[in-house]
This record gives sequence, C-alpha cells and structure tokens, in this order.
Amino acid sequence: MKHLAFASIEQLQKLIERKEISSRELVSFFAKRFEQHDERVKSAIEVFDVPSTLRLSQPSGPLSGIPGILKDNIAQRGRQLTCASKILTGFTSPYDATAIERLKKSGAPLLGRANCDEFAMGGSTEYSAYFKTHNPWDLDRIPGGSSGGSIAAVAAGLCPWALGTETGGSVRLPAAFCGIVGLKPTYGLVSRYGVVAYASSFDQIGISTRTVKDNATILSVIAGHDVHDATSRSVMPRDYTRLLDGRLPEHCTIGVLDNMVHIKGMQPAVQERIEAAIKEFEKLGARVKRISIPVLDYCAAVYFVLSRAEAASNLARFDGVRYGLRDRDTQTLEEMYMRTRHEGFGAEVRARMLIGNYVLSAGYSRKFYANAKKVQQLMRVEVERVLKDVDVLLAPTQAAPAYKIGACDNDPLTIDLLDFFTCFANIIGIPGLALPCGFVDNMPVGFQLFGPALSEELLYKVGHAYEQVTPWHTMHPPMFVER
Ligand code: GLN
Repeated sequence: MKHLAFASIEQLQKLIERKEISSRELVSFFAKRFEQHDERVKSAIEVFDVPSTLRLSQPSGPLSGIPGILKDNIAQRGRQLTCASKILTGFTSPYDATAIERLKKSGAPLLGRANCDEFAMGGSTEYSAYFKTHNPWDLDRIPGGSSGGSIAAVAAGLCPWALGTETGGSVRLPAAFCGIVGLKPTYGLVSRYGVVAYASSFDQIGISTRTVKDNATILSVIAGHDVHDATSRSVMPRDYTRLLDGRLPEHCTIGVLDNMVHIKGMQPAVQERIEAAIKEFEKLGARVKRISIPVLDYCAAVYFVLSRAEAASNLARFDGVRYGLRDRDTQTLEEMYMRTRHEGFGAEVRARMLIGNYVLSAGYSRKFYANAKKVQQLMRVEVERVLKDVDVLLAPTQAAPAYKIGACDNDPLTIDLLDFFTCFANIIGIPGLALPCGFVDNMPVGFQLFGPALSEELLYKVGHAYEQVTPWHTMHPPMFVER
C-alpha cells in the first residue's frame, strides 16, 4: 500500500468511491504511519485511537475516510487542548471549533493533535513546551512554524491534510520549508470560533495539503459564515475546486513584489528558484509586472508590535482560575496568579506579554501601538491600489531553506524576521497561497500568491495552473517513502 502515504485527497476519494478500500482501512493505515514514523518527525502531541476517531466522524460524506490532523490550538470536543503550553495542562475542550464541526459533518476522521510553537508564537516549532518537531526532508532542521507539526505530518506522508493557524505566516512558512501547499484564507472567511486566540485581528485557520486542489477541497468544507464569530464574513459555502482546469485566467497579470525578491539576505539560489517560477508563469501566458510597495518593508516591525499587543490582552485569561494549571501552594490570590503564570508559560510567551503590555502602556502606546496601526492602514491602501492593476501578487516565502534546529537559540530576532515575507497578508487580511517551487541544498523552497480579499478561487486557479506544469508536488522526503 505504499502509494497511499503520499496520495492526494482526490486519489483517496476515488479509491473509496470505487470501494477499493474502506474508510476504516484508510484511517488504520494513516494511524499506522504515525506509529511507524512519528518517532522521528515528532509532529503529533497525541494520536487518537482508531475506534474513537471513527466514532466521532460521520460515516458518509465527501471526506469520509480521509483523515487529517489539527494543530493543538483548535478545539476538539472531549479532547485535550494544550496550545503546546504547560499552562493548559489537563484542560479538555467542552466544544468543537466551527471548522471541526464542519469537518466531522463532512465525514473527515480527525486523527490527533499536532505540535506547534506555544500558543502559536514562533516560526520554528522549537518553542513547544513538549518537544521540537523535525523537518521530514532533513531531521536536523526545523519544519518552520508555528504550525510545524501539522505541516510536517502532511510532508512526511502521515496524513493527506492538516489544519494549522495563521497569525503571521504560520502555515505558509512551514509549508515552504517542507515543500507542500499552504493557504492563509481571507480574514473572516473561516470561523475563528474554537481557535485559541493569539492576535484576534489577524488569526485565521490555515490549510496544508499536498496539492492545490486538495487545499480547495478542505476550504470548501470549512469556509463560510458562522454566527459564533462576529468577524466572520457573510459568505455562502461554495466549491473552491470549481475553476481548477489547469489554465490561468484569461489575460492574467502577475505583479512580482520585486523588493521582496531582491532583498538583502536573500540567498541567490532561492532567488533563482523564484525567477524560474516567474518564467513558468510567463510560459503559461501570464503578463508579468515588476512592482515594489516600499511600505511593506515595515511589515515585520508592524506585525511585531501589533501581534504582541493583542497577545498580551488575549493571554490575560490564563490565570489559574478557569483553565488548566493552578499553583495550589500559595497563600493569596495574587500570588496564585503570578506563580501559575510564571510556571505555566514558556520564556518566549512571557517575553511577548511583557512587550505587548509595554507597547500598550500609557506614555508609550502612541509611539508604538498607534503608529503601527497607522502603518497598517498605509499598507492596506497601498496593496489595494496595486491590486487594481494586477490580478495577483507574487513573492518569495523565505530567504533561505529551513535552518538547523537550535541554530537560532541565541538569536530569536532571526526567527521573528522569518515573518517578513508572509505577515503583510495577515496585517491587511488578504489571502495568501504558498506553493513549492524547487529545492536549494536538497531542501524545499517556495513562493506565494496574494490577491484581494475573498480571491481564494483565483489564487487556487493560478496556483493549480503552475502545479500542472511543475513536478514539485510529486516529490516526497525519501526517508518516508516506502520502497
Ligand atoms: N512567527 C510569527 C509569530 O511568532 C507567526 C506566528 C503565527 O502565524 N501563528 O508571531
């Protein structure tokens, strides 16, 4: 059954339809893949037992028998929910996130909880309170983060799809580092109900899959309005695979964000892969325009301030009273708060709360928070202006292949700078689709496509056309391919 591990959702659906394999067999097959291989990748915090996985998903539906894994900051009813943090030790979710409810209704078996950076804060999955996840292409390297567990599981052929979350690039960055497809939907397209908040005005669930079409299949299940999320857009469910015919849209113009391609620190070999992808689009008939949006140079700085500010407010709720961990060896309430939070949160999360409260504090908030909000608005205006002239924007996802685990231990700012290529989409709420475009040092590298709000169908169509003429999605990490 070696072909199953790296099969697309589409191929698996056909096998089930033709009754060549049952849902139960598929779920058991992928559960076995985790058992055999996750010792090395360490993508999952928990893999559920097969009977309970099968019991919780409806027996028939478009995703019946097609299992996936979920980042451990998305609520699954009756399952633990840790955000890879000690502070949520022992917490069990009393309800399903809206996306989870929709997946279950569509028949999808949910296999487990994927590792991530604590509270999704990080870019490498080195900041999990449990363990570090490894890149399936080279186990000494990071998978990227913060949704590293979700993405590594798909890349290693442990399951065909996974959900992560995106606040600043946490699905697209690891997708690029691991050579698979990652989508950050338009803000408000997928309900945030049941997603543990990091920076609420940026947070979105993201999707990782092997192919563009598979990605569109999962989005079709989870997208659409939800009364439980006040920021959810009133969008009706639709079939996002509808336009995927392998062709670019007519008269397609691609705007290449030149200042991101030619930025200092960009490895020439990565640049070459991006330029090769651009050529491929030209061959497909696209018109390519080189543009630059100088204000985007500030995106990592803006993201740094705004994400910390929102995180500081959101994480105030973890105080030992309502959720998870509580230090019981204390005399006063205040001491209980302090000790619980000190013991429960890791160093990175604590640092972010300090910075967040600082940039919001009286006397400093105008200098930091208010200014960052102004630049955010400028970015929105500039990008919207450019998107009137081109259909989609193209930019790299990374400046270099994934670095070695531990390489940035004394240099956390380097990890923050990984957000540079991705976070502007979160800052202004537009969708971003990350696709693989080759290898550098035997490690995957990729690029991204961006479009106006709610242009997911367009991004998929453009990405799909590229995928049909390139081999990257058919390549898998050799050590996980059974011979
Ligand atoms: N690396 C970014 C951060 O640490 C992005 C995280 C995310 O998208 N969840 O904030």
